[in-house]
Amino acid sequence: MESNYRQHVLVADDDPTIGVLMQASLEAQGYSVTVVEDGTAALAAFRAAPADVVLLDVEMPGLSGYEVCEEIRRHWGPDIPVVLVTGHDDIESVEHAYRSGATDFMPKPINWTLIGHRLHYVLRAFRDATERRLAEQRAQRLAYFDTLTGLPNRQSVHELLERELARVRRNINGHSLALLLLDLDGFKSINDSLGHGIGNQMLQRVADRLRNGLRTGDIIGRLTGDACVEAAEGLVARLGGDEFTVVLPYMVRVEDALLIAHRIRELIGRPFVFENRSIVMTASIGIALFPDDGQDAETLLMHAETAMYAAKSEGRNNCQYYRSSLTERAIARLELESELHRALKHKEFCLVYQPQVDACSGVIVGVEALIRWQHPEKGLISPLDFIPLAEDIGLILPIGAWVLQTACADAMRWQAMGLPPIQISVNISPIQFRDPDLQKNILAAHVSTGLPASRLEIEITESTLMEDAAHALRVMQSLRDQGIHIALDDFGTGYSSLQYLRQLPLTKLKIDRAFVRDMPASKADQAIVRSVITLAKALDMRVTAEGVETGDQHAALAELGCHIIQGFYFSGPVPFEGIVGLLQSSSTGVVP
Ligand code: C2E
Ligand code: CA
Ligand code: CA
Repeated sequence: MESNYRQHVLVADDDPTIGVLMQASLEAQGYSVTVVEDGTAALAAFRAAPADVVLLDVEMPGLSGYEVCEEIRRHWGPDIPVVLVTGHDDIESVEHAYRSGATDFMPKPINWTLIGHRLHYVLRAFRDATERRLAEQRAQRLAYFDTLTGLPNRQSVHELLERELARVRRNINGHSLALLLLDLDGFKSINDSLGHGIGNQMLQRVADRLRNGLRTGDIIGRLTGDACVEAAEGLVARLGGDEFTVVLPYMVRVEDALLIAHRIRELIGRPFVFENRSIVMTASIGIALFPDDGQDAETLLMHAETAMYAAKSEGRNNCQYYRSSLTERAIARLELESELHRALKHKEFCLVYQPQVDACSGVIVGVEALIRWQHPEKGLISPLDFIPLAEDIGLILPIGAWVLQTACADAMRWQAMGLPPIQISVNISPIQFRDPDLQKNILAAHVSTGLPASRLEIEITESTLMEDAAHALRVMQSLRDQGIHIALDDFGTGYSSLQYLRQLPLTKLKIDRAFVRDMPASKADQAIVRSVITLAKALDMRVTAEGVETGDQHAALAELGCHIIQGFYFSGPVPFEGIVGLLQSSSTGVVP
C-alpha cells in the first residue's frame, strides 16, 4: 500500500451497528470507508466512485450481497476484490459466495482487530493476479510481435506461413502463395550517420506504410476473379533489423507478387521527412513461391532471401523472383496486360477468316473467324500469345463480344455484296461460356446484324464442358433451340469421351490437326479419323478436319467420308477482302 494513498473500502450492511463498527475499525487501520445500507445503494456508490475493495453483507433487503457481487462482476470484471460477509459459515453459503464471484468470504461475528489485515491480503492477492495476467499478455506480445513496430515478428511469420501453407495445400481453387522478403537498401548508413533514434523511427514509418498501404484490394485491378481482393491483402511482418516480409496467401497469378512488390517499392520510395530532413529510401525485394520454390516456411524464407540478395546485386531498388526466369516472364506479362487494355480501347484487333470447304465439291461452305492483334510497334500478334492472358484477366469477355459482333457483321457485308451465303464460325473461350451474358451477346450479334441463327456456328473446346457440365449443357441446349450451330473444336486432344458426346447437342466435330498431320502415312491416325467420322455420322454430326496441308491429306479425308476440310492446302486465314476474292472464284456456297 502506498503511504500517501488510503485505499477505499465500500461497505454495505443493513445493520447500522455493523456499519459504524466497520467504519471505525477500518479507518483506524488506514482505509477510507463509505458505508451504505442496502445492495442498490452499494451499486450506485460503486458506480459513482469505484472502491478498491467491497465488503457486502449477504442478507440485505432488496438486492442480496450475492446479487450485488454478480452485478459488479458483470459490469466491472474479475479484478475488483469483493468480500462477502456471511451470517453463517456453513458450506452452502460459502459456496454460494464463490459462485457469485466473491474473492473471499468473512463469517460473522467479525474480528474487528484483524479485519484490516484480512483486507490487506485480499487486496494484495488480486493485484497479483492482475499483474500476472498483464505479464502473460506482455509475454505473448513479446513472443509474437515486434516491440519497435508492433508488426508480427519472425516467430509469427513462421506459424502463420505454416498455417497458410496447410490451407493452400488443401485448396483446390488454384490459389498459390507468395512470400516477399524486403530489405531496405543502405539502412546501416542511416543508423551510422543519423543515429539509432532516427533509424528506429524510420523502421516504424516503413512498418506503417506497409501496414496501411497493402491493406486495400485495389492493387490488383481485375475484371474477374473473386480472389483478387484477398490476393492483395498482404500480411506484413518484421523479420528483424531492416528486413520485412509480406505473405500473399491467395495469389492467383505469378505476376501478382510482382505487382505487390512494385507497390511496396512505391510505398517505400516516397521521401521520409524527419524534422527538416528528407530522406529517400529504397528496398530490394525477393520473391519465393509455393510450391515451386519451397514446400515449407523455412525453405521459402531462405529462397526469398536468396532472391532478395540477387535483387540487391542487380543494383538495389529491385525485385527478383527466386527463379530469375520468372522475373522477366512476369514483367512481360504485366506489360502485355496493360497493352491489351489499350488494344481494346484503341481498336487494335482485327479478324481474319479461314475458309472451310466441302471435301467433295471444294465449294466454300463457311469461314472461321480468327482474331489478330495489330500491335503498333510489335506488328501482328498471334492469338496464341494473348488469348490465354486475356482469359486470365477477364478481358476475353469484351474481346469475345467484339469478335462475335464483327464476324456477324462481316458475314452480312459479304451477303450484301451479292456473294453466296456462307456459315461463320466463332471461337468461344471457356471463360465466355461461364459468363451469364454470353447468350445475350450471341443474340445481340446475330439479331442486330440480321444474320440468320443457322448461319452462325460457335466453336467450343472440351475444357468448356469439363468445368460445369450441367451449366454448359443448359447453355448449349438453349443456343441450339435458337438454331445456332455448335462445333466441338480440337477434338481428340482432350478427354474425348465418346460416351459423353452422345448427350451433347453438338452439330459438328472438328478433328484436331494432330491426327491429320501424319495422314495418310500413319495407319493409326487413319484408323482414329475413320472411327471418329463413323461415330459423328451415327450421332448425326458433321465432321471438319483441321490443318489439311496437302492434296494427299485432302484425298484421304474425302475417301473416309469427312464432310469439310480446313487448312493451308485450300487457304490460310485471310482478311475480309481475301474472302471476297475466294468466294467470287469458288462455286456457289451451300449452307451445311
Ligand atoms: P483454332 O481454333 O484451332 O484455330 C485454328 C488454328 O489453326 C488457327 O491458328 C489457324 O491459323 C491454324 N491453321 C489453319 N490451317 C492450318 C494448317 O493447315 N496448318 C497449321 N499448322 N495450322 C493451321 P490461329 O489463327 O493462330 O489461332 C490459334 C488459336 O487461337 C485458335 O485455334 C483458337 O483457339 C484461338 N483463337 C483465335 N481466334 C480466337 C477468337 O476470336 N476467340 C477465341 N476465344 N480464341 C481464338
Ligand atoms: Ca477453332
Ligand atoms: Ca481447332
